[in-house]
Amino acid sequence: MTDQTLIILGASGDLTARLLLPGAGALIKAGHVPGLTLIGAALEEDWDDARWRQRVHDAAGQTPPTRWIRADVTRADDLRTVLDAAAGPPAIFFALPPAVTARACAALLDVDLPEGTRLVLEKPFGTSAESAAELNSLLTRLVPEERIHRVDHFLGKSTVLNILGLRFANRIFEPLLNSTHVESVDIVFDENLGLENRAGYYDHAGALADMIQSHLLQILGILTMEPPISLDAGEFRDRKADALRATRLWSEDPAACSRRARYTAGDLSGRRLPGYAQEPGVDPSRATETLAELVLAVDTWRWAGVPFRLRSGKAIGNSRKEAVVTFRRPPRVPDGLTGCDEPDRLRITFGPDRIALDFNINGPGDPFELDPVTLSAEFGAGELPPYGEVLRGVFEDDPMLSIRADVAEQCWRIVEPVTAAWRAGTVPLLDYPAGSTGPEDSLLTS
Ligand code: NDP
Repeated sequence: MTDQTLIILGASGDLTARLLLPGAGALIKAGHVPGLTLIGAALEEDWDDARWRQRVHDAAGQTPPTRWIRADVTRADDLRTVLDAAAGPPAIFFALPPAVTARACAALLDVDLPEGTRLVLEKPFGTSAESAAELNSLLTRLVPEERIHRVDHFLGKSTVLNILGLRFANRIFEPLLNSTHVESVDIVFDENLGLENRAGYYDHAGALADMIQSHLLQILGILTMEPPISLDAGEFRDRKADALRATRLWSEDPAACSRRARYTAGDLSGRRLPGYAQEPGVDPSRATETLAELVLAVDTWRWAGVPFRLRSGKAIGNSRKEAVVTFRRPPRVPDGLTGCDEPDRLRITFGPDRIALDFNINGPGDPFELDPVTLSAEFGAGELPPYGEVLRGVFEDDPMLSIRADVAEQCWRIVEPVTAAWRAGTVPLLDYPAGSTGPEDSLLTS
């Protein structure tokens, strides 16, 4: 594998510095992309080769060959100049605001792309099922679907494999993971961080588009899919797509099965945080939510009747990143055994990945009195950080971690009844103080 080029459009931005370059650095260090050149492009007037080289060095911890090109990536001429600088088949990473990405893709229609070009697109992919479908049809006019990588860095490959191993490489858990034994599933990603100066992006996205429509639905797909025959990307993505195609809002009433809320001023991790509406760059009239909850149904034989509650919130006191499977109560506990109060639960925690099984047994002390115990285990960490795994998949033409065109559209289809109801104002925007556990009127039960 020699003469690879990663072209980063939007290379002066936040994503490039915080996630993409560290991922590329880890990939280079591990020896997966010998001969990688990093071409950076953006509009900035005061960037040059030296500044880009320094940025790469600082963020990636490596000094691969680099090149900086000032470009307006919505112009075909500028894109041609950038592409001419590439050696070998380039991977073009669109680290741009979503609207600029769409315009850059349209401009690429007038450019002859080198053989083997891969396109790497960030979330959010479109803003609706319709716009995602339009972007998909534009992209397939540029390169074949297998060279289009719609990034979901949230689940690195090791986490995906950890869930598949937990589910399908033993006889313990999988026989229980169905509507006969499972009461409900909660998938939660609560952050103890506020806006962190990202109003320009976040105020137009909100928690539903930023986290649930993208990342949490992918977790749901992997938790609910039928066993894949192999880890082949096509097979894995087919099974995940089946599960997401079967997923819909729990009822036809978005007010009953969704919540939206916004944090007010409060103390978070020892810091005083202003309310979201007072954060610099936020337009309070957009009523952007910083916390979203949805209840979904997966209409398959295995999961019919089991509610899946998805939630993500910013500025929550306790950071919590996990999927919790709550099991039904035992059909009957013999008279004489007491204390079976809490349901059994399987917790799959993300980053670091671990599992914990909470259940009731005759613990220490009085054997008539049941006690909750927890069995837990750590999963191995991946060799690479999530963006390193994403880039490795791109350079090895392995799309396992990327979102297929139809799935990107399905994920918008799932949330659209909720976004429509929110826009129409039929679901109130609740408040919660920064540093709290979220709004009182929550749909979560675990
Ligand atoms: P930023 O606003 O920080 O950076 C955007 C970049 O795009 C800048 O380098 C900007 O350069 C460049 N740009 C904008 N317009 C043009 C143009 N016409 N021609 C050339 N360059 C242009 O955004 P982020 O890095 O935060 O986000 C990028 C993408 O990544 C978004 O889609 C976002 O949703 C996604 N993402 C971001 C994450 C993050 O943590 N930041 C996490 C997950 C996804 P200039 O300043 O020169 O205009």
